[in-house]
Amino acid sequence: MTSLTPPRLRDDCFAMPQGVDWVPVDDALARLRAALHPVAGVEAIPTHAARGRILARDTLALRSNPPRPNSAVDGYGCAHAATGAGVVELPLVQGRAAAGQPFDGAVPVGHAVRILTGAILPEGVDTVMLEEDCAVGGGRVAFDGPVKPRANTRKAGEDIPEGQPALPAGHRLRAPDLALLSALGLGEVSVFRPLRVGVLSTGDEIIAQAGAPALPHQIWDANRPMLLALAEGWDCAPVDLGHVGDAPDAIAARLDAGARDCDVVLTSGGASAGDEDHVSALLRGRGTLSAWRIALKPGRPLALATWNGVPVFGLPGNPVAALVCALIFARPALSLLAGAGWVHPQGFAVPAAFSKRKKPGRREYLRARLNAAGEAEVFASEGSGRISGLSWATGLVELPDGETTVAPGTPVRFIPYEAFGLR
Ligand code: AMP
Ligand code: MG
Repeated sequence: MTSLTPPRLRDDCFAMPQGVDWVPVDDALARLRAALHPVAGVEAIPTHAARGRILARDTLALRSNPPRPNSAVDGYGCAHAATGAGVVELPLVQGRAAAGQPFDGAVPVGHAVRILTGAILPEGVDTVMLEEDCAVGGGRVAFDGPVKPRANTRKAGEDIPEGQPALPAGHRLRAPDLALLSALGLGEVSVFRPLRVGVLSTGDEIIAQAGAPALPHQIWDANRPMLLALAEGWDCAPVDLGHVGDAPDAIAARLDAGARDCDVVLTSGGASAGDEDHVSALLRGRGTLSAWRIALKPGRPLALATWNGVPVFGLPGNPVAALVCALIFARPALSLLAGAGWVHPQGFAVPAAFSKRKKPGRREYLRARLNAAGEAEVFASEGSGRISGLSWATGLVELPDGETTVAPGTPVRFIPYEAFGLR
């Protein structure tokens, strides 16, 4: 099996044209999509171990499913030619046809055979009468005609014929897909290697390990466990790059390690343009940073860069903004890098259980959940430091870029966490 690793990204892939100011979310997403391509290598693995993996090639049925015509029910089989209107009575041949135990020989026209669900139709049988519709005794079977030709049978290849496409490259395998591929004889599949996602926290105030001694000016790292768990839930391979203070050399060393061991790196904190925003300063120093000013709340400039050819997403430090930016931008980007193509979260319109006036000019995401009536209620505080609201919520309400007035009953777009692959 070959192990192919596609080329790395171009250093200038995230460059924004000169003079671009606030970019609408959809434009930013389109730019991101255009800048990226799959970077994960390919390997062959057993189908049974492939849940969550992404197909690297189109899969074709190695054999028709079902391979031969078979019975869909327990009953009695015969040639349709032997049936007619009114009561039909036929002699039964010796033996039976069962799943895994085919009938030995042919059934003569004018005879019937006992047949069970999943059994291959014996030669001479094209139609099956349901057991419950038959009377049996004295070596004969009787049923009411007329019956439809091929009643209660399954055609060979009616699910998928041999050589036909089953699942396309880019498809992420779920439990039912493993059933399909296995049924078609595919014991091995070519899949992309799991995307290795490095997660690095930055900030002098951050204590890496929750519960470790912390002074009043120090806070425990909330983003790293969240982002590592997100990556894992997205069936990526999370790589813990730990935490570093606001020290350029330390950040650079960690990014070097990330670029060596990962396909993509997510950092949090220090991504704005302030004095202590060392991540963006460093990425800019190496000449590959593009700070994307995206018209989004909550969110700050999203720092996008490559570091030794590896894409780096500089997420805001604020956990609420970090999560929203990760769900809206990192998720589809990681999906594309991983080989599964770009993804759109599936939202749906529900009545609002809240009121809000929103100014035009940027898109807004509110922490939300559905009440018993199926209406979206939003977290009481929009403060972006309120981590508890992220846990309180079961999804986000998306308010459009333009001016909006929401009153109770107004339809709003609710996107469940599950639709972002968050679990
Ligand atoms: P920054 O983006 O570095 O300006 O940080 C914005 C806010 O997010 C500050 O209040 C930081 O203390 C906080 N913050 C940054 N990183 C983390 C983290 N890993 N966990 C929790 N809060 C953080
Ligand atoms: Mg900071």
